Amino acid sequence: MKEIKHYINGEFVGSASGRTFEDINPANGQVIGRVHEAGRAEVDAAVKAARAALKGPWGKMTVVERAEILHRVADGITARFDEFLEAECLDTGKPKSLASHIDIPRGAANFKVFADLLKNVANEAFEMATPDGAGALNYGVRRPKGVIGVISPWNLPLLLMTWKVGPALACGNCVVVKPSEETPLTANLLGEVMQAAGVPAGVYNVVHGFGGDSAGAFLTEHADVDAYTFTGETGTGETIMRAAAKGVRQVSLELGGKNAGIVFADCDMDKAIEGTLRSAFANCGQVCLGTERVYVERPIFDEFVARLKAGAENLVIGPPDDASSNFGPLVSLKHREKVLSYYQQALDDGASVITGGGVPDMPAHLAGGAWVQPTIWTGLADDSAVVTEEIFGPCCHIRPFDSEEEAIELANSLPYGLASAIWTENSSRAHRVAGQIEAGIVWVNSWFLRDLRTAFGGSKQSGIGREGGVHSLEFYTELKNVCIKL
Ligand code: NDP
Repeated sequence: MKEIKHYINGEFVGSASGRTFEDINPANGQVIGRVHEAGRAEVDAAVKAARAALKGPWGKMTVVERAEILHRVADGITARFDEFLEAECLDTGKPKSLASHIDIPRGAANFKVFADLLKNVANEAFEMATPDGAGALNYGVRRPKGVIGVISPWNLPLLLMTWKVGPALACGNCVVVKPSEETPLTANLLGEVMQAAGVPAGVYNVVHGFGGDSAGAFLTEHADVDAYTFTGETGTGETIMRAAAKGVRQVSLELGGKNAGIVFADCDMDKAIEGTLRSAFANCGQVCLGTERVYVERPIFDEFVARLKAGAENLVIGPPDDASSNFGPLVSLKHREKVLSYYQQALDDGASVITGGGVPDMPAHLAGGAWVQPTIWTGLADDSAVVTEEIFGPCCHIRPFDSEEEAIELANSLPYGLASAIWTENSSRAHRVAGQIEAGIVWVNSWFLRDLRTAFGGSKQSGIGREGGVHSLEFYTELKNVCIKL
């Protein structure tokens, strides 16, 4: 059985308390390993190591030197691709066919993209007139923000963690990462890769544990962390924001969503079905950008529902190693309880179950896994909790609409504002509607098409701040203005 330790100051270390918890494979319920749980002592050691590294070699390196090392980190992930794939799929149960296309390649890309960006970014400069006629010159310089606390979720563990660690390190910061307790493995593998790539000790640290009253809280309460970048639930984001308020530390929050898909009668139905199937069911519905509310223009409603049902019933449920499988389990039995409570709520609220609604029959060796059926409902009221709350499972509710205005109003009716997908072949309508949707990201005739140079983040209760491209620099650096009187 694996023993999963913290990675602090370039070494794998256990907890002084000896406290550990189980890492469980959600495909079969078996224990993969025992994870050390960090107390305040380990979190403090990690923060101290990060602070020392900031003052040491990492802080003194040029951008070009750092970028070279980060390229080696990306290459190191690629060289150990199969190990990362195995680890990510053990922790999450997701199909290898998915993780080999998304999670691991993006994990590596996150280092190269931001390393290259930093080498090429320009700063502003202003010439200024002064009363004596001599003038002044202003120019901006960027400096690392300092020690960054990185708190990440379990749905895309390596991808979402490196999405923060990549730009943070490229900008010259040092990090202390707290991965979700469900998915500790790839963060540790990355420690090995960092070591081999020549990242100095203390630049990248990992502490394992839970959120509240554990490693997560100890990290957000630590006075010597300069800023926090967090991806997870909106409620947790509020808690972290409160903790970060002490000492006026900055936060970047990528939070929950209840994203709408809007399907107009003038859409290309094949594209809309293919995209909505992915957006509702990929990663077993555990994607923050996923579509849980689908609004379909009435003339094509019946056809859309029938075709989405057929698509959902064609998904192949199976474990990560099954090459034909494209639908894995949920991350844990605990999360399945939550998802199934919404499946029950849908029945209580009078939904028509178009497909799914329960737990699939699985062979005996997988019966202990967190399996759940892909599920589609119609007929719920707009105020049902199933339609208003983030479920984070493989399910969606489909509702008809009669006008563009109604569709926009429905899409904007919730306090979330993360992402939206519009399906139409009318380009004027696409621009018009996209401009009115209250969300940080709007896709037209696609979903999860990501250019890492673009802004990523949520509006309303889906987050604060934007990451991606130069927007990551805004968070991970301190922009200083130098004013020179000539
Ligand atoms: P959680 O908010 O439960 O947890 C996220 C991380 O925060 C975990 O590492 C967790 O630790 C930690 N944590 C929990 N409580 C605290 C606390 N009090 N102080 C410090 N850290 C804490 O989210 P999930 O892991 O359940 O992830 C799913 C959520 O993430 C969904 O809401 C989804 O929408 C959102 N998400 C948003 C994205 C976006 O870009 N906007 C992208 C992906 C997901 P532990 O797990 O050990 O409790």
